[in-house]
Amino acid sequence: MAGMRKITILGSTGSIGDSTLSVLEFAARNGEANFEIEALTANTNVEKLAEQARKFNAKFVAIADETLGDDLKAALVGLDIESGAGAAAVEAAAERDADYVMAAIVGAAGLKPTLKAAQRGADIALANKECLVCAGDIVTAAIREAGGRLLPVDSEHNAIFQVFDFERPERVTRLILTASGGPFRTWTTEEMSVATPAQAVAHPNWSMGAKISVDSATLMNKGLELIEATYIFPIPHDQIEILVHPQSVIHSMVEYVDGSVLAQLGTPDMRTPIATTLAWPDRAPSPSAKLNFAEVAKLTFEAPDLERFPALRLAREAIKAGGIMPASLNAANEIAVASFLAGGIKFLDIAAISEQVLDGVGKGNGPAALTTLEEAVAADRQARRLAEQAVAARAAA
Ligand code: NDP
Repeated sequence: MAGMRKITILGSTGSIGDSTLSVLEFAARNGEANFEIEALTANTNVEKLAEQARKFNAKFVAIADETLGDDLKAALVGLDIESGAGAAAVEAAAERDADYVMAAIVGAAGLKPTLKAAQRGADIALANKECLVCAGDIVTAAIREAGGRLLPVDSEHNAIFQVFDFERPERVTRLILTASGGPFRTWTTEEMSVATPAQAVAHPNWSMGAKISVDSATLMNKGLELIEATYIFPIPHDQIEILVHPQSVIHSMVEYVDGSVLAQLGTPDMRTPIATTLAWPDRAPSPSAKLNFAEVAKLTFEAPDLERFPALRLAREAIKAGGIMPASLNAANEIAVASFLAGGIKFLDIAAISEQVLDGVGKGNGPAALTTLEEAVAADRQARRLAEQAVAARAAA
């Protein structure tokens, strides 16, 4: 990590935001980092945002909830830190002059700010997979055209990124995305029908935010990752396979024409892929524990069960149909997961509602092409409305 770098973290108060700051702190302690924090953002967590801003001497902080602007100002009194509130302030944070922007807002809410940072030519460390699912071509074109780099943070994509031969993509025969299988890997459909939010967020290997934890339980996370992979790597979706690997040691693999399979391995700790994106193409130490192979002892693999986990099938159907379907799937899932977490619907309703919305969108309009941000936003809005209706219908039943 040579040279002074300006860093912005969109979604700094979340799980990925925390891990990013911890990698930076570790690197600084080890004399490996020379950075300043340009901007930090959050949705509602004023206290934590202000504490991070103070500790890392951020120049600008933004809170997405505009009713909290005064609270944020009050929490920063006496400090030379600018602040703003509302979605526009989060976008303003993204537009500030940082070289490296960690996109770690959860959900499609991250799309516009990430796009702003991309259009400025910043390197985009991408954790916020939903923004690629929602508008993959638009985001990747913006990064490319402005001259920044897309550095995947998702552990699977980060793994593939490390072993993918971008100069000879035609020599790649398969990407193998590994999945832990989540907390319900061995549960029957009947057992899952009464799964609680607390059970769904209790991931066996990874510590993450609530939404992605539920996505890992439905395997929608892997479905979103399948879609994400098609935008990051020049490989068609039918050459991307999903493989359940409960130990989460092999983070993903690339198979080449000669039969060689290259993999990246490590402990299940997001600080490793984050450190990779911060140093790339160099390497820098990270605070994550190193792998102890004797302790791991066994690596096992299973084919995913599409019957018990229909979200995987839905994601394949959405990417195959293209157009607005991935954005619609993502939006429907966001609404359904939020409702499940709030106790509004049952666990199995998440995939059922997502399917219902895809059917509705497909029947209503046919899978239109999606080429502009406005179209992506409209597709997202339409699917949210349909999903909200489906949630309300279940509540009334
Ligand atoms: P968290 O829920 O822990 O954090 C989300 C962050 O986004 C918080 O800073 C939150 O602020 C902010 N935020 C939430 N809603 C909005 C909004 N409407 N507008 C602006 N900011 C908002 O999520 P994670 O850190 O777990 O995940 C972040 C992203 O990274 C997701 O896309 C996820 O899929 C991806 N990812 C996460 C991994 C992980 O290990 N956690 C692994 C791989 C990918 P506040 O704190 O105020 O609510």
